Amino acid sequence: AAAHQPADKTVDSVCPYCGVGCQLTYHVKGNTILRVEGRKGPANEGRLCVKGRYGFDYVHHEQRLTQPLVRREGVTKNPVDLLDPEQVNSAFRPATWDEALALIAGRFKQIKSTHGGHALAGFGSAKCSNEEAYLFQKLVRTGFGTNNVDHCTRLCHASSVAALLEGIGSGAVSNPVMDVNQAEVIFVIGANPTVNHPVGATWIKNAVKNGAKLIVADPRRSDLARHATHFLQFKADSDVALLNALLHVIIEEKLIDREFIEQRTEGFDDLKANVSACTPEAMSSICGISPAELRAVARLYATSSASIILWGMGISQHTHGTDNARCLISLALITGQIGRPGTGLHPLRGQNNVQGASDAGLIPMMYPDYQQVCNPEAQQRFEALWNTPLSNTPGLTVVETMQAILAGTVKGMYILGENPAMSDPDLNHARKALAALDFLVVQDIFLTETASLADVVLPASAFPEKTGTFTNTDRLVQLGQQAIHPPGQARQDLWIIQSIAQGLGLDWQYNSLEEVFDEMRRAMHSIEGITWQRLQGEHALVYPCAHEGDIGQAVVFTEHFPTPNGKARLVPARYRKAAETPDSEFPFVLITGRQLEHWHTGSMTRRASVLDAIEPEPTALLHPEDLKALNIEAGNTIRLQSRRGEIQLFARADTGTPPGHVFVPFCYAEAAINKLTHAALDPDGKIPEFKYCAIAVHKK
Ligand code: SF4
Repeated sequence: AAAHQPADKTVDSVCPYCGVGCQLTYHVKGNTILRVEGRKGPANEGRLCVKGRYGFDYVHHEQRLTQPLVRREGVTKNPVDLLDPEQVNSAFRPATWDEALALIAGRFKQIKSTHGGHALAGFGSAKCSNEEAYLFQKLVRTGFGTNNVDHCTRLCHASSVAALLEGIGSGAVSNPVMDVNQAEVIFVIGANPTVNHPVGATWIKNAVKNGAKLIVADPRRSDLARHATHFLQFKADSDVALLNALLHVIIEEKLIDREFIEQRTEGFDDLKANVSACTPEAMSSICGISPAELRAVARLYATSSASIILWGMGISQHTHGTDNARCLISLALITGQIGRPGTGLHPLRGQNNVQGASDAGLIPMMYPDYQQVCNPEAQQRFEALWNTPLSNTPGLTVVETMQAILAGTVKGMYILGENPAMSDPDLNHARKALAALDFLVVQDIFLTETASLADVVLPASAFPEKTGTFTNTDRLVQLGQQAIHPPGQARQDLWIIQSIAQGLGLDWQYNSLEEVFDEMRRAMHSIEGITWQRLQGEHALVYPCAHEGDIGQAVVFTEHFPTPNGKARLVPARYRKAAETPDSEFPFVLITGRQLEHWHTGSMTRRASVLDAIEPEPTALLHPEDLKALNIEAGNTIRLQSRRGEIQLFARADTGTPPGHVFVPFCYAEAAINKLTHAALDPDGKIPEFKYCAIAVHKK
């Protein structure tokens, strides 16, 4: 009924969930959001998916944190039985902001003076605005004195970014999603956009209706495959074999763009030699796709007037994730399918600001704008801008931080908006690490699984409770605007970060968001031309944007690549198996991911009433043949087990999941699937292998 009440006001903002970055309007009465409507933004043209339209009432949930909390003396942290939000009073006591901030400053300073700055670390979040992400990494680098700062990009597209930076000098997309409208061929691999980027998927489906040809390649048959001209259901860890076969055909049949290769790339001979033996016949036995189909797809992609590649975490979340992305980059480069409308490379970014948080420097080896911390020129530039000496040692990534805690080298952490006690691989290990910290500060809107292991919990502001900029998967910087006030004593995140920085002795006096954004423009050439005033008037501006009159570049690499010599680098990759493969004890392959109604670790969407009503319980998706063989019926409780842990949840029949595989979303705390996943890392992107490990399935 509340949804139909007349609103007092409307506030234009953007969706807090996925990287598509749909613009929306909040309808507000008093301090309550009544409903949400889609707005005509460049990425969504008024469209919203179920999360954007109905996933907003988490902000009014009774479990919102409304005051700082301090762990009661003598209450130990239990990494196995995490605290239920209802039990909060048993472990924490309320504190004033002054007390909490003084405690934080004292403990962080004590750890730094005793063990050095590298004994501290911070995880920022892709849920944060660009300004929050920028200040957070600045605090870690200048206040803690270390580059130990990372965020969830490490768990989603770190390997894609590693390959893109190495190959073409830029980690962001070359063309917006909407460019599918101008493509003759759309190649979607390792992505399930109807679930994870739903409005983006509608543009793909519309393009197919208008005549574009769609190639979908994925071990699971997604809904989008129904619209495909070719659907390649390849074996789950065989991406490189599949892609090398396509490269082989394109080179062997002389479907390459020789002029583009000669003028704009280097390394072609090595690539050619690397794939010379990767005939479709040879690769077919590895990837499971027939030689005829491999040849047909290679020809279709290479010979179209405009082919675009979009990929997701099916490509990146492997120990060979960087190699997978290298192959995709090579496909685009040797065919000249980049640098024009309707072509290019688009790693679909997951969270609504994972692009912006990475750009702003929430990365342990890079300052803002991807400037290497070990590059003396970049170091000097940031030392001058921030007026302080900086470490030139690359910091620890997410999983490395957990390992360092257990090794005793990291002792204190500040976690803003991330939930590694749900999102990290091999959770029992990760939770043990978080519980082992001498001092943990968590800033969030709910008592998340991570917050329940904290020493101090700070009540933060939810997305509609603050203003800031957010950068979507298309490199569009968009303005999110405050619609309501935070509850109780919850505070704006920017205020909290600045207060902690001041407690550490940093002379920070940012009086407005605009001041922070102006400093970011000085730090980041890519957004120099985007001013706060322009954002307020235009709401969305794409970078690179060189000056105030610049409309920005939606399509990049039109003439050269941002590499030292302007050329792209072709990097060969060889097929490698996953780190852990099935055997007689653990005969199934586990694939983890997301589902349409829930977002990441579920901290927001599982408290959104409509979304939780649609998908209230944890399920594992298995092929009906497997269910029958195991004498399990859909709806039965089953037990999943790996070498690292086990969980119980409900079985669901799914013909899209291939026999021998199990798909489980990672948003359910009561059946946290990451207890089973493997922490093996890609050697370049340092991303864990969430898309492949060995498990057993038992009827309960
Ligand atoms: Fe939000 Fe993504 Fe859905 Fe758009 S597609 S409404 S950005 S979750």
